[in-house]
Amino acid sequence: MQITESQIRDVVQQVLSQLDAPPLDSQPNCGCHSSSHNACACNGSSYEGRRGVFEDVGQAVAAATAAFEQLSQRTREDRERIIGHIRRIAVDQCVELGTMEMEETKIGRLEHKIEKLKILGERTPGVEFLRSEIFSGDHGLAVIEHAPFGVIGCITPVTHSLPTLTGNAISMIAGGNTLVVNPHPSGKGVAAEGVRRFNEAIYRDLGIDNLICVISEPTLESADAIFAHRGVRMICVTGGPAVARAALNSGKRAVVAGPGNPPVVVDETADLDRAAQSIIQGGAYDNNLLCIAEKEVFVVDQVFDCMMQAMQRAGGVRLNSGEIDALTRVAITSVGEGDQRHDVPAKEYLGKDASVLAAGIGKSVPERTELLFGETDEHNPFVTVEQMMPFIPFVRCRDADHAIDLAHKYEHGFGHTAIIHSNNVRNMTRMGRIMDTTLFVKNGPCVSALGLGGEGYLSFSIATPTGEGVTSPLTFTRERRCSLIDDLCILGKAD
Ligand code: NAD
Repeated sequence: MQITESQIRDVVQQVLSQLDAPPLDSQPNCGCHSSSHNACACNGSSYEGRRGVFEDVGQAVAAATAAFEQLSQRTREDRERIIGHIRRIAVDQCVELGTMEMEETKIGRLEHKIEKLKILGERTPGVEFLRSEIFSGDHGLAVIEHAPFGVIGCITPVTHSLPTLTGNAISMIAGGNTLVVNPHPSGKGVAAEGVRRFNEAIYRDLGIDNLICVISEPTLESADAIFAHRGVRMICVTGGPAVARAALNSGKRAVVAGPGNPPVVVDETADLDRAAQSIIQGGAYDNNLLCIAEKEVFVVDQVFDCMMQAMQRAGGVRLNSGEIDALTRVAITSVGEGDQRHDVPAKEYLGKDASVLAAGIGKSVPERTELLFGETDEHNPFVTVEQMMPFIPFVRCRDADHAIDLAHKYEHGFGHTAIIHSNNVRNMTRMGRIMDTTLFVKNGPCVSALGLGGEGYLSFSIATPTGEGVTSPLTFTRERRCSLIDDLCILGKAD
């Protein structure tokens, strides 16, 4: 007599019900006899149905590890299908999810929250980026392929909670990895909702759950637990100085997308109207929350007054010196003690609309105003601090060399982003060499460096101190070389 699998399952189910055990479908299929699902960490298939949302780092890593093992058995075409689901949800549901992000974080601009999700869904590079390299010659053939690391631990910023997670997920899964994300606590809700939707769609189509895991109640402790977990092979952090330092000290292979304070130089040869439009496009985007956004502008004296007029023609609202002093008092605050004391943006104004900044100093501007600007000296905190709000200080400089030197000084050695508006090749070259930044933009808004109006590809994790640059699927792979000695190079003399 032939016994089918379903008959065996029925018998086992009957025995289990007599033992008062949970139904077979909800049993861990890991061979573990743990009575608690969540306690079982020997095989993440016990976490099927969680759709990637976990309170506990240990469980999230176990689930992501099991998902990695499943993904490793699948074809590249399946990886493309998985990424296709993430792209589709990011694009089709960008209005709903972008609105959710805006309502939760309360910083930035709704239209840009929506647009960021859409462009990351559409433009983050995928599996096609993983091209093999081949060396062939007298001694045979060597093929270099790009293999995954495994589980990657990610830390994401409040400035782009779900967008960063979406871009990381596409790049990392394209490379064959799975991920565990510790989002910023102020963007945890939308991060968890996005992850739940991505995993749901992937599971329904391909039967793999938990490819993307997220910590539902993220803390600094859960970030540390991810850094320390032996099952996490690599970490990728996107954030400010504290988390960048923590990642660099973690002892793990780290891809660090750290802070910036991008300066802009405008010299006497620049097209001033184009420069002004660019500064407003980049500096006002999402209320200046982008790490690459124009933060302070150094303009040569010869064209300074004309540049201020160009800014007004482009729609910026100019503040006078009394108004700038008042804004500095309310929007910049000091933290820390003794020689650790330093200026930071005040929470109430970070990422708020230009009209809110203006209202804070009793000034009324049209609600649709994108950017406030005004003349300051180089020591104003809006120059020195990564302010992330839509007021941009303009500093008058003797000449282009002076402007470039100040740009270098106030980028603070982050090596992140710098911008010049000029038609003088010597000035462009000098600035590029001195700044030594990961992104250097000439005659366009900052976003053009990410392929938005310029060439290149998109990512919202730009690895600066660790040097990977604009991250891509290749960033999250390791090279493996396969060598065949003396054969399969078909060029040369036949025997
Ligand atoms: P943030 O540094 O306050 O937080 C970023 C993330 O790090 C959050 O998830 C936070 O909870 C976590 N974190 C903070 N301190 C930590 C620590 N000591 N240990 C572990 N985790 C810690 O930054 P934010 O306000 O969320 O984002 C803005 C910052 O991120 C800016 O400095 C901006 O330049 C930077 N950023 C960089 C990039 C890039 O690609 N280079 C992209 C976006 C944002």
